[in-house]
Amino acid sequence: MLFRKLVIMQAGVYIHLPICKSRCIYCDFFSQTNAGLENEIVDLILREIDLAALKYPDFNAQTQYLGGGTPSCFSDSNIKKLLQAIRSNFTSSGDDLKEITVEMNPDDVDLDKLNSYREMGINRISLGVQSFDDRALRFLSRRHNSKQNLSAINLLQKAGFTNYSIDLIFAVPGQADSEFFQSLETAIELEPAHISLYCLSSEPGTELSRMLDSGIICALSEENQAVMFREAIIRLKSAGFRQYELSNFALPGHECQHNLIYWNMQEYLGFGPSAHSFYHGSRWGNYPDLNKYFEIVKSSNLPHPPEEKLSAQRWAEELLMLSLRLDEGLNLNEYHRITGHSLLDGKKEIIEDLVKNGLAEIKSGSMCLTIEGLLVADEILVKLL
Ligand code: SF4
Repeated sequence: MLFRKLVIMQAGVYIHLPICKSRCIYCDFFSQTNAGLENEIVDLILREIDLAALKYPDFNAQTQYLGGGTPSCFSDSNIKKLLQAIRSNFTSSGDDLKEITVEMNPDDVDLDKLNSYREMGINRISLGVQSFDDRALRFLSRRHNSKQNLSAINLLQKAGFTNYSIDLIFAVPGQADSEFFQSLETAIELEPAHISLYCLSSEPGTELSRMLDSGIICALSEENQAVMFREAIIRLKSAGFRQYELSNFALPGHECQHNLIYWNMQEYLGFGPSAHSFYHGSRWGNYPDLNKYFEIVKSSNLPHPPEEKLSAQRWAEELLMLSLRLDEGLNLNEYHRITGHSLLDGKKEIIEDLVKNGLAEIKSGSMCLTIEGLLVADEILVKLL
């Protein structure tokens, strides 16, 4: 195999469930609001799973992630069918799945649902809190308020979910630093095992990008965003969280195993429209189009264009992009082995500059970005690629 993993080999399955009760202004994930399509979508994903199981009979998963869209607005019986299909097709015994995550929106959380999830073996919840600031939540057009966020977390704890993650967004237009820090402090006080922290970005085609382009609202300056992110990193670290990935912070032992599969370039299969896969050195993505997805799966074909086999160069570039987001950084020997050349030699001046300016460090044979480096990670990648 081209890439000799230095981490324990894991593989995961992602299922994309593309229904939301309403659309948030900033979101460009593939999803639509016709809940009447739920059963048909699930039936076709089940069919896709069966087709893939014939093509990839040796694929064995240790993690399962249900994302979207809003998985928590799907019925418990549909969620159960999907998990059952993964267990029977992609595990050698029902116990192989060590981590099963479901994304939930706070307004969908109730004790019955959580108990039912626990019975199905779901052991990790990713909760789309986004903020504890009602003004920010309204601006983002989230369907829940801060009171519902607190109540959802209380229910998670009551149902015995110790491994849950809170998503938070910062740099909402008009948001003062203090408002964001207040939200962050509330999140920290609730003692979740994991926090994902995202800077609000303007994605083409979203309502947010139209509002910004038309000048109705102004984005926060990059300096302001950096102040928020830097301070957030400091506060999360001092509360005991490890920033194991650029946007992800975990208490020890609570890193998201499924997402680590992506960042470590391990293998995963994705099902549902727009889901991506990486297997045996090839990448592919399902069509982000419901009609096309329905039509192709109904004709018993897998709903994606031909797989792209990664060249050694492309593999190394992806490894560089993904590894530099991780606190463990890029293993320089591994990069050398894959590409046949040393990054330290090839990009000598750039790397020396990064180290001199406190943006990167070389330690134990790996290159890692410092906090200041993480703040400009995208620019650093452009220079190194
Ligand atoms: S952010 Fe989540 S809930 Fe909102 S539209 Fe996107 S997928 Fe749906």
